[in-house]
Amino acid sequence: MKVIDLTPRGYCHGVKNALAIVKKVIKDESYPRPIYVLGQIVHNEKITKAFETFGVISLDQKGKTRLEMIEEVDHGTVIFTAHGISDQVISRAKEKGLTYLNATCRDVLKVHKAVKEKLYEGYQVIYIGHKDHPEPEAILSISEKIIFVTDEKDALLLDSTIKKEIFVTNQTTLSVYDIESILSILRTKYPNLLFDDDICDATKVRQQAVMDQEIVDLMLVVGDPMSSNSNKLKSVGEKSKHIPSYLIRGVEDINIEWLKKINLVSVTSGASTPTIVTEEVIQFLKQFNKNDPNTWDHHSKTLIGEIL
Ligand code: SF4
Repeated sequence: MKVIDLTPRGYCHGVKNALAIVKKVIKDESYPRPIYVLGQIVHNEKITKAFETFGVISLDQKGKTRLEMIEEVDHGTVIFTAHGISDQVISRAKEKGLTYLNATCRDVLKVHKAVKEKLYEGYQVIYIGHKDHPEPEAILSISEKIIFVTDEKDALLLDSTIKKEIFVTNQTTLSVYDIESILSILRTKYPNLLFDDDICDATKVRQQAVMDQEIVDLMLVVGDPMSSNSNKLKSVGEKSKHIPSYLIRGVEDINIEWLKKINLVSVTSGASTPTIVTEEVIQFLKQFNKNDPNTWDHHSKTLIGEIL
């Protein structure tokens, strides 16, 4: 099968930095044990499992906030994830006497700084993001005055008579499609709003590569279902070029039926997907022959120790 390997793809600087921090703590025994991660260090279950083999405990309970989760830790080292952390959690870690390291990506920190500055200057801050994601959770903890908008419906419900100047910003891993429609509603209500587009560069260039690709029969995005930027790559492929697209965790998620009727497939991967996992998908597709069932075995042969 002919395969187009879209680039850039895979790890961004924020993910590389977060993984390096966890590896450093594993290696350096002067950090108190056990090692906890408050959430998933990056949204990829294969990485979380690989770190588990080194004894790293990822506290990732649906419905629980980071502030609730930190209460479960009484000793050891805590690592805050790439998605950002609230000042309240950091204070709590200090109060509890915990050793902690902050793996928040610098692009996320930039949004925290901008939001704090604009609140200080008296703006009404509107933040566009996804529900139940740790990045908005940390941003919203800055002030209860921040208005959280998750979709067009939320935007339509906003009071158009707000007296303050309006500042709008967003989660770093959204797509232009998410923002466009919400922003146009907000601009109608608040024509003078100040918008800071905070989709990070890593997300933008990966999405642009998907938008610029030639028309293919199918696009496979290798990434975790929890990964916001991986989900966005899939939807950008569908929206920009109407390319049928699937999000797969790895080669094991490929459905042979998808491949039997096509000739050309493109592959990309989320910013938190290990390269070895994407390479295995590409190698499988390259050797796949729809007329030869001997080429259809798509069990993953990647060992957990090879993920990191
Ligand atoms: S996707 Fe963007 S914001 Fe998220 S970790 Fe990577 S560079 Fe940072």
